[in-house]
Amino acid sequence: MAGGSIVPDLSTLSVWFLVGSQGLYGEEVLQQVAAQSQQVAQLLDASGDIPVKVIWRPVLTDSDGIMQAMLEANADPSVVGVITWMHTFSPAKMWIRGLGALHKPLLHLHTQANSELPYGELDFDFMNLNQSAHGDREYGYILSRLGVRRKSVIGHASDPRVTREVGTWTRAAAGWHELQGMKVARFGDNMRYVAVTEGDKTEAETIFGVSVNTWGVNDLIARVDAVADDRIDALVAEYDASYDVVPELASDGARRDSLRYAAREELGLRDFLEEHDCVAFTDTFEDLGTLRQLPGIAVQRLMADGYGFGAEGDWKTAILVRLASVMGAGLPGGATLMEDYTYNLTPGEELILGAHMLEVSPTISSARPTLEIHPLGIGGKEDPCRLVFTADPGEAVVVAMSDVRSRFRLIANVVDIVEPPHPLPKLPVGRALWRPRPDFVTSAKSWLAAGAAHHTVMSTSLDADVFVDFARIADVELVLIDEQSTVRDVERGLRLESAYRSGPAPV
Ligand code: MN
Repeated sequence: MAGGSIVPDLSTLSVWFLVGSQGLYGEEVLQQVAAQSQQVAQLLDASGDIPVKVIWRPVLTDSDGIMQAMLEANADPSVVGVITWMHTFSPAKMWIRGLGALHKPLLHLHTQANSELPYGELDFDFMNLNQSAHGDREYGYILSRLGVRRKSVIGHASDPRVTREVGTWTRAAAGWHELQGMKVARFGDNMRYVAVTEGDKTEAETIFGVSVNTWGVNDLIARVDAVADDRIDALVAEYDASYDVVPELASDGARRDSLRYAAREELGLRDFLEEHDCVAFTDTFEDLGTLRQLPGIAVQRLMADGYGFGAEGDWKTAILVRLASVMGAGLPGGATLMEDYTYNLTPGEELILGAHMLEVSPTISSARPTLEIHPLGIGGKEDPCRLVFTADPGEAVVVAMSDVRSRFRLIANVVDIVEPPHPLPKLPVGRALWRPRPDFVTSAKSWLAAGAAHHTVMSTSLDADVFVDFARIADVELVLIDEQSTVRDVERGLRLESAYRSGPAPV
């Protein structure tokens, strides 16, 4: 039986907690460093904000030991990143070779063991033991001198702000980890004449580690046609139990056969993706061969299980949907393909209605979807079955990826999903209505200036900070549109980024 969630359990992954010191103050001090740093690592590990394990490693006091630790971190497949803290004073030339060898994301935790100064007890032994205030600055110098990309988190490990920031970075690091070696299957090419869904697949593997490859739709059709009837029986029974099925699709309904065929497509897709070890895919309504329906409920349920998906051959968005599913593992909400579709342009009350022809994940709604069948205006196939629902109100982020010739550009917009003020009885798709931050005009003007796509991933699990951390790890440009954005700042940022990355400025 195919099926089930492919969202990874992030608690099976880890980050290493590497502590820098030196031998200058003797063995007793190093034992104190070890004990105190273990306590800090335990505070982080115990935090519900941090979904991966935080593993303390023996204190590092020389260049060879640092090099060895970094090589071991590179080699361990469960390690998604490295946290470093210079507990005492770890002369930073010792870190040059090790930092050069590290190929995993780096977080610099600028902290110390004590929260409050023990004024009455404070002597110079205490000062020498607890001198990360300048030990971490020495380390920051070498990081900046070497141009090492990292996130710096500042504060005591008991501070929820600190654990939240570390947790956000671990989610981004887990996402980056997931992309390395990830496989995307494309059935058919991009929608004819469309520009923004195109891109350089070789560059995608170079930059993100993701392998994007195409199969003829006939390869998929062979799997769909081979699905046994008893598996279809079981899956439509699962549909009956999970959704409000409209009467025509019910077990005694006139169009039950259409639902059985939709289930056949779901099972064939799952079989193909599992066989080829692919966790994301695309299709296109212009190249369906003898498939009878554009896959609707199949794609919706696959996304809900953690598969990435992009419509019309959009493999870049398929990567983003998978990435957001992994980074959001264990959090409420979900990730879905989304498309800016149509507007409410009443001045001061502007809203964006997002949807797609069919392929929106039900994870963005807590309501029980209805399972319906309706005609599709394009593609010339039979009416497709689809889940219909409305996204829950609340904060979300939409993220697009554009290929701007010399590089990929990510664009993220923080949005507030709202309850539709009126019912949408004639719109039989999964949909979301939102107000973009900081306001509609600034958002749209910035989005257009950035050359951002109409397909996005919408995540209701994650905030934009995770994507900021991910972009830093990947060394990919990210244009953030949030409550602090102005058009002037976004345009200036685009020009500066283009100069920095030696590519064409869009504005
Ligand atoms: Mn589309």
